[in-house]
Parts: sequence; structure tokens; C-alpha cells
Amino acid sequence: MEEHTALPFFILNTMRKHYFLLFLSLSFGNLFAQNSGYWQQHVDYKMDVTMDVKNYQYKGKQQLVYTNNSSDTLKKVYYHLFNNAFQPGSEMDARIQSIKDPDARMVNKTKVDGKDIKESRIKNLKINEIGYLKILNFKQDGVNASAKTVGTILEVTLAKPILPNSKTTFTLDFDGQVPVQIRRSGRNNVEGVELSMAQWYPKIAEFDPEGWHADPYIAREFHGVWGNFNVNITIDKDYVLGGSGYLQNPNEIGHGYQDAGVTVVYPKKAKTLTWHFNAPMVHDFTWAADKNYDHDVVKGPNNVDLHFIYKNTPAVVENWKKLQPLMVAVMAYYNKTVGDYPYKQYSFIQAGDGGMEYAMCTLMLGNGKLEGILGTAAHELGHSWFQHILASNESKHPWMDEGFTTYIEDLALNELATKKEENPFKGNYGAYYKLVESGKEQPQTTHGDRYDENRPYSISSYVKGSIFLSQLGYVIGQENLNKTVKKYYQDFKFKHPTPNDIKRTAERVSGAELDWYLIDWTETLNTIDYGIASVQENANKTNVTLERIGRMPMPIDVLVEYTDGTKESFYIPLRMMSFEKENPTPAIPRTVLKDWAWAYPTFEFSISKPKTAIKKITIDPSGLMADVKQSNNVYELK
Ligand SMILES: [Zn+2]
Repeated sequence: MEEHTALPFFILNTMRKHYFLLFLSLSFGNLFAQNSGYWQQHVDYKMDVTMDVKNYQYKGKQQLVYTNNSSDTLKKVYYHLFNNAFQPGSEMDARIQSIKDPDARMVNKTKVDGKDIKESRIKNLKINEIGYLKILNFKQDGVNASAKTVGTILEVTLAKPILPNSKTTFTLDFDGQVPVQIRRSGRNNVEGVELSMAQWYPKIAEFDPEGWHADPYIAREFHGVWGNFNVNITIDKDYVLGGSGYLQNPNEIGHGYQDAGVTVVYPKKAKTLTWHFNAPMVHDFTWAADKNYDHDVVKGPNNVDLHFIYKNTPAVVENWKKLQPLMVAVMAYYNKTVGDYPYKQYSFIQAGDGGMEYAMCTLMLGNGKLEGILGTAAHELGHSWFQHILASNESKHPWMDEGFTTYIEDLALNELATKKEENPFKGNYGAYYKLVESGKEQPQTTHGDRYDENRPYSISSYVKGSIFLSQLGYVIGQENLNKTVKKYYQDFKFKHPTPNDIKRTAERVSGAELDWYLIDWTETLNTIDYGIASVQENANKTNVTLERIGRMPMPIDVLVEYTDGTKESFYIPLRMMSFEKENPTPAIPRTVLKDWAWAYPTFEFSISKPKTAIKKITIDPSGLMADVKQSNNVYELK
């Protein structure tokens, strides 16, 4: 995930606990009944961590119960050691130094002989500034296992293989150092937040039906194992924490977490507090800490606690207070549009860089204008659905989480806006057309780390991914799209959906065949270009010839506006879809023409009025079909 600072155009545009677990087991029963061939691994983490706030070093013990639900016998397992990316000479460092458009946050700009030189910030980190995660005493069921650190990955050769449908327990000790803030995690970010603890612990890599996903940490995107986290964090008592999971000892901790009316009395002479968090059914655990945080709790929809944790400086306080009712509204909108947020808590935490989604929380920058903060907060909250509940593999399919999040974010921000746009996605289409024009586009099947440049990655993931949905509304009709989004959520929440799952859901809802849509849009660089080739009068009628210039097929809506002010529309179904869309604009009478099979380069139809009566003919008046050449979509009477 990237975020709004890098992509300004997005802005333009306890009983409790038990109830929750019951809810989860019920929903899991349903989902396995529905999809019996599906399996996913399961993890139960228990971690005890002590943070030294003077030297930014931490020590931890981790116990991980790993359940192998696959039919494979596993002889090795892999862990991510993300902190190791923040060392001179790491793959991340090498990538910053070689990519043409490095992330501005990760470089220092200097002028040499009048020329701008960008230098990797990782390259110059000193030994007490780097990040690391050192693993000691790795054991499997109490027996030593060989664990080798290779860059940001820990390769473990197991003491004994894990058989299908069995459990094993891994234990290890870790020594960590929080790096100087370079990207996402780190100490003392640009807004002075002391600890942004993302990607901070040894995290087992996901093994799914496609195999292992032990991707090195180079730049972006994650994939994790579903499970439960039980985490104790011991830290200087003056620090306020926010993060994934429910605080289990709020009345010992205070700092805004205590129950109403409770006065927290700390043990005399105590220098530290131990914060105990439980995060059920998540695939990551993140936290942040600072001495100068304010902390508000606001009731959101369905009684969800929305925590706002932000620096106590006046400008920040003012904006973050205004943000609170807005985020209640945004959450209500996402609940309505996708499905109810399933946890009882979500935290907006000022930390990190830009904005980044985590389980039950976001770390985001908090200075600046309200408009910017709102855009970031709406985007990151959206990721709760599209990544932290519908956990597609972000590394392989960044368009699924970034694109779908951008889609609902644009809808939500338009809903909140005083001046509503008829097409809130207009900016996305423009950005996509520019990418195609640049010649720098790579197919969406490209792994997130393997894009040549950052910008094409961003447009392809956020923008083209968002258009996947907004354009699907054009293809199968808006109502079918709305149902598809909801059904996708209901069928695949707490799982790892793949591109085919969103396509099949749209097929199940609409009855249309959509293989072509998924293939052409996400696996190729094929583009859409339809045009009006000719408009000719023939015996008081007008013959219109359309042509398909681009490789990608599409069904076609045509709007005809007459000189007398009346309107008429024509719909040309796409033969390979075996589908007829409902009239998207029922107020305008529509004629459904014979279908257009892709291989035919042209299509002809007749309008029962003379040419002089026609003021304008428009292919796709909705603007939701991503036709890369708009100029040939319109005919106008001269
Ligand atoms: Zn995002």
C-alpha cells in the first residue's frame, strides 16, 4: 500500500469478547459449508515484549501454535523479519538506489553540480539507527530447530515435519531495534511520534493453496496467516499505546482506556506498565506509542468503539476532533455498501508515514488539512474490508485491496461532499488514460515489487483496480455490482479471496459470463477503444456504423439526442457474455439491438429518424467504460 501523501489525486477526488468469538465460529461454520474445498492455515501467537524507550531496542518471547490445515507435509517454515530491510545494503536499500522514481520518504535530496541527486536514506543509517530482528532459541515442540536468517526472511528447517491437519508449537526469543523512520515503521516519524510499530515482530509467512509466500521485504504489500494474537507489551508508564486488539486490562492501564468512572491507581514506584492485548481473527498485529498522545473514544455504528489517538498539539487536536463524526459516517457507509464491520473496535492512530492499513487500526500522518486527513482516514478504514477482512494476497494482487478500497473511498467521500458528483470516479479514468499513454503500464498480474517504477504501480493498483469495479457496474449494471460487492464480502470474509473469486461472485449475481473481463483487464495490457465510424442517412433513416479499435471487448451503450430535445438509447450486448443488462437510465427509452461478437470489427444499426434530426450520438454516456480514446465516442451535428 502507498498512500495519500504520495498520491494527492485521491484526495481530489469482555461479554463483548465472548460474543465476538461466538459470532466468528458461527460465520466460519457457514463459510466452510459453502466452500468445502477451501482451506487456510491458522496461527495462535502469544508474545511478551519489553520496550526500552531510551535506545529503541526491544526484547520478546514468542510462542506460536501453528495449525497445518493443508494436505501437505511441511518440512520447512518461513518467517518475515521485516526490520532487517532497514540496513545498508539490504534489498530495500538496493531497490531505492536503482528505481527511477524512488519514494520521496525514503531518499535524501541533495544538489551536486546543480543536479538533483536522490540518495537512499537506508544507505547512511548508523548501527544504532538501523532496524533488526535477531532470532534466538528457536524450538519446535521444545526441540531445537535450525533457523537461518536470509535478509528479511527466517528459513526454518523443522525438527520434525508437520503432518496434514496437525498442530505444532514454535517458540523463539527475539531482539529487535526500531529503525529510524524510513518507511511505515520506525522511531520519531516526521510528526514526532516516537514509536510506529508496524512489521515489528517475527511473523510466520503464509502457506496457502498456491504454496509459500515468503516474499522479501523490498517495498510494499503483505500477506499473512489468519489467527489470534495475545500480546503483552511492557513499556515506560508515561506512554499511550494504540493498536490492533482489545486491551484486556484497561483499568490497570488508564490512558483513556479505563471504564467510565474508574480512577486508575498505579503501583507506587512502578516505572512501566504491561499492556495486554487480544486480537482475535486477524492476520497482523501493529501498535504505536507516544508520551504526548490524546485519546478519544467515540461510539461508531453498531456500538463499535472508534479510538482516535493523536498528538496533543492544538492544530492536530482541532482537526482530529472534527474528523470523529466524519469517520462514524464513513464507517456507516462502508457497513451499508459492503457489510458490517465485524470487530468491536477500530483505532485511528497518528503515526507511521502517509497512511497504512493494519488489523483493526491505521497508522497515518495527522498534521495538515482536515480534507487530507479525512481522505487518508477514509481510505485506510476502507482497507478494513479490503485487506483485513477480505485478505487477498496484496503482493500478488495489489489491485484487489488498493483498487477496491479506492472504489469505496471515492463513493464514501462523494456521499459526504456537499457537492456530489454524478461520476465520482472521473479522476481515476483520466489517470488511467494517462498511464496507457505513457507506455509505462504493466499488467495487473505483476507482483507489487516487480513494477519498474512506483507511479505505474500506484495507478495500476489504486486506479485501474478501482475501475475494475466501477466499470463492472457498466458491464453488468449498477444493482448487480452493488450485490456483487456485498456477496463477495459475505462469501469470502476472513479468507484469502483471489481475482477469480470476485469474478465468480459477479457471475453468480448477474448470470453473465465474465472470464473475458478478468483476463483482458487484469492479465493483459489490452485497452478499450470503440468509435463511431460513420453516420449516414438512408431513406429518412440514419445508419450508424461503430467500430472496435481496441483489443478489449465490451458491451456498448449508445445515447442518441435529437434536435427536438428528446433522447433515445441503444444497447448492444456482448455475445461472449450471454447477458442482457437492465436499462441503466429507465427514463430514456431503450432499444436492445442484436449482440456484437468480438471478432467482427464493425457493427451497424439504424436510427428511425433522418440525420438532420440527430443532434448528438454518444458511446457510453455514463463515462464508466474506460475507453482510452474518447474523441471518437461522440458524433455531433455540424
Ligand atoms: Zn491503500
